[in-house]
Amino acid sequence: MSGKKILVVGAGPGGLTSAMILAKRGFDVTVLERAPEVGGRNRTLQINGFVFDVGPTFLMMKYILDEVFELAGKRIDDYLESYPLDPMYVLNFGKDRLEVTPDHALLKQRIAELFPGEEKGLDEFMRVERRRFEKMKPCLQKDYSNFSAMYSREMRNALPHLSIGKSLYTNLGRYFTSERLRVCFTFQAKYLGMSPWQCPAAFTIIPYVEHAFGVFHVRGGLSRISEAMARVVEENGGRIRTGTPVKRVLVRNGRAVGVVLEDGEQVNADGVVINADFGHAMSTLFEPGLLRKYTPSRLERMKYSCSTFMLYLGLDKLYQEPHHQILFAADYRRNIEDIAVHGRVSDDLSVYVRNASVTDATLAPEGKSALYVLVPVPNNTHGVAWPDIQERVRARVLHTIKTRTSMTDIEDHIEVEHMITPDDWAREGVHYGATFNLAHSLDQMLYFRPHNQFQEVGHCYLVGGGTHPGSGLPTIYESGRITADLITQAG
Ligand SMILES: Cc1cc2nc3c(=O)[nH]c(=O)nc-3n(C[C@H](O)[C@H](O)[C@H](O)COP(=O)(O)OP(=O)(O)OC[C@H]3O[C@@H](n4cnc5c(N)ncnc54)[C@H](O)[C@@H]3O)c2cc1C
Repeated sequence: MSGKKILVVGAGPGGLTSAMILAKRGFDVTVLERAPEVGGRNRTLQINGFVFDVGPTFLMMKYILDEVFELAGKRIDDYLESYPLDPMYVLNFGKDRLEVTPDHALLKQRIAELFPGEEKGLDEFMRVERRRFEKMKPCLQKDYSNFSAMYSREMRNALPHLSIGKSLYTNLGRYFTSERLRVCFTFQAKYLGMSPWQCPAAFTIIPYVEHAFGVFHVRGGLSRISEAMARVVEENGGRIRTGTPVKRVLVRNGRAVGVVLEDGEQVNADGVVINADFGHAMSTLFEPGLLRKYTPSRLERMKYSCSTFMLYLGLDKLYQEPHHQILFAADYRRNIEDIAVHGRVSDDLSVYVRNASVTDATLAPEGKSALYVLVPVPNNTHGVAWPDIQERVRARVLHTIKTRTSMTDIEDHIEVEHMITPDDWAREGVHYGATFNLAHSLDQMLYFRPHNQFQEVGHCYLVGGGTHPGSGLPTIYESGRITADLITQAG
């Protein structure tokens, strides 16, 4: 219904998606963002002419982004220039490297060279996993505020394809026997901050969507998406107030009626959408004692994704290394178990290196490059003492890059540098520094994940990686779309 006043707490991808759609539908929308800029984890970091994405670098299922722009009455191409990457990424195992291309015939050839006889598994993977994806897709676009949604026709159709009890890694055994090749199709569990050996098999849809729809880059960086969304919110009549931290959601008679800002200003509203990190929002944004379900002890018992150690390096040269490259630890499984089970930082780390300047010259001054390095590490539930080890971890990461790529003299070329540890993520309101939010175990999925219509408070909605359908840009955009539809239906 037009004219109703909606406040959105947080200008991350989830909040901006709901805001731009609701503004288009005539709601009076104001986005309140604590930081000086929009984007949340999907924001830009600029240092001396070098441009880094702080968080997301892989854009998958780009068509979902196109759809949410359409719902906001816009053509995405008027705002962003994006292109598919080929190779999508390079998987670096030391001596062996697999250049993963979206060209399936070529990919089969490359698999045959490294894993003779295994190439036929690719066709079967695409055939079977397409069916799973098609059955699951409608489930991920539905609202699960009501348990009856678990019995919907879509869920009944999807149930046989969920492979309940199987892990992503086990499932890949249907297609490939080589352990290493299975890793090539399961490391994507890390996008959810999970272990391939624990991540439910249903998430085989993630490697599937990469191979089916490709991996995209946005010129200027993926943070441009958030900036474009913020523009659309304003063009559609909404307001964005950055540098405006929300202290509390005001609740009267069980309903959200507005917010109080840190500076004491009270802003009234007909509905409140929360995009702040789920655990952080539950522990800070409501009057202590108000919440019955998401109490501090319940939040402590929930499962969380891993964290990430980050380096952003402005280099005074451009290396001819791939746009996306993953340097796997020699014993990848042990590295993953260190993160997910033992809660320790491995001696032998896996390192993701994004050298986007090879395809995008806008990210650094001429002849230079903006290198982004992400290392999955345990979240802060394990009590790693980062101030004591961060310099050692930095040295280990640079050693890995020097010995596994052509960037052997990288340390001589670092012009600017920025580091983010799990403690820094936690300081910016990421609960337990779990960068990919709540874990995606089956007991934290669908109806069992925090609902988009918040269970505990009326007229209050949740969007973002900690809510249904999950963490990762495409599902976060879906959370914004589902919430916008719920608010529209509520009228
Ligand atoms: C390092 C990293 C790499 C990632 N890589 C990928 C990738 O390649 N592909 C992919 O699809 N996904 C990726 N993700 C996951 C996910 O897409 C991003 O984390 C995404 O930004 C999360 O969006 P969100 O909507 O949950 O909100 P967030 O980005 O968490 O934004 C929430 C916003 O709320 C604001 N806020 C919090 N509290 C308050 C308050 N009290 N008052 C006002 N504002 C408040 C915050 O400042 C923030 O701006 C990555 C994440 C990280 C961290």
